[in-house]
Amino acid sequence: MKNPIELMNPEVVAIKQQEIFKFNALAKSNPGVINMTVGEPNFPTPDHIKLAAIKAIEENDTRYTVPEGDHELLRAAAKYLHDKYDLNYDPTTEMITTLGVTEGVFSTLNAVLSAGDEILIPAPCYTIYGPDSGFDRATPVYLDTSKSEFKVTPEQLNEILSTHPKIKAFLFNYPTNPTGVSYTRPELEKLADVLRKYDIFVISDEIYSELTYKFKHYSLAKLLPDQTILLNGLSKSHSMTGWRIGIACGPKAIIAEINKIHELATTAVSTISQAAATEAYKNGFDDTKPMLDEYRKRRDILLSGLEKLDFYCPIPDGAFYLFAKIPEGLNQDDVAMAKDLLNTEGLAILPGSFFGEGGAGHLRLSYAASMDSINGAIEKLGDYVKEHKNA
Ligand code: PLP
Repeated sequence: MKNPIELMNPEVVAIKQQEIFKFNALAKSNPGVINMTVGEPNFPTPDHIKLAAIKAIEENDTRYTVPEGDHELLRAAAKYLHDKYDLNYDPTTEMITTLGVTEGVFSTLNAVLSAGDEILIPAPCYTIYGPDSGFDRATPVYLDTSKSEFKVTPEQLNEILSTHPKIKAFLFNYPTNPTGVSYTRPELEKLADVLRKYDIFVISDEIYSELTYKFKHYSLAKLLPDQTILLNGLSKSHSMTGWRIGIACGPKAIIAEINKIHELATTAVSTISQAAATEAYKNGFDDTKPMLDEYRKRRDILLSGLEKLDFYCPIPDGAFYLFAKIPEGLNQDDVAMAKDLLNTEGLAILPGSFFGEGGAGHLRLSYAASMDSINGAIEKLGDYVKEHKNA
């Protein structure tokens, strides 16, 4: 049998996920290492959500369930999306639950793409996007955002869409992993004006929507309801990465197609996780607030520490990442520097080039880490810079 990796477009096989795992594993296996690689909240899931899961177990809610997800959960999620983002989805036909946004991306791309299609992906980007596209034998076309402060501009978007007729979908993510940039409503309106002119799907991964620091998140789905598949979930907002809860929303016909793939791949999301998610969507409207306040403090300290060392970061409006440009006078090879930091300073951070085009010469630091780790990281980076600048 053919290895599925061999079936993929060779360009796409350059998957960096394994390399990220290697960094993580090295950091974890050495307790002395400060680990700033991890893209998940370091807070416990709120108690009321955990109790709902315990109740589901006690009540034997432990059997197969409908693939689209429990209808009470979907109704609660629809109300939550309405109250938070003024979105209006019919929970019976326009929404399904997925195993996190990860499966949401996979099933959506399977539903939307065919062999030979192209998919437009702003880069640097979340590492699964390219390989996921490759599974459908589609080709990612990367839009390098590094020359525009890591934001897609309407001009770039129009130029690329007008010259690539094979593009079937635009896979967008904001607040953005790995750069932390986000988009204001006027910026999104300009992008939507371009996207509306093309017969393409917009897949909008808004998993970090509740982690914004300066302006309230505005959903692209609000501007392009007929074209957009919105992917969101509870991993980042409610510190629920291990529960695997995602939501895919969009026009009825495409959601039905995504649900078919989702059913083939998963049967359904765990009933226990769904019970927890129902509670989160019903009674966890403000759960993110204390975590967000803490992330903001960490971000400000890390940002100021990095700036003092001459690292430049694009404005981090959301998520929990800083994407720092390596200062002049240091070797610009981000992979070599990240390896060196790990081996000599005991500091694990990820090279920007792991996130694809436009990422070289940068380092990604996750501040979903304790304040001690953040202060320790600044100190270690300071030592490194002192020793290596203009060496
Ligand atoms: N989308 C982006 C942009 C991410 O950064 C991540 C995780 O880091 C995910 C999706 C995964 O989300 P989930 O836990 O819902 O699968």
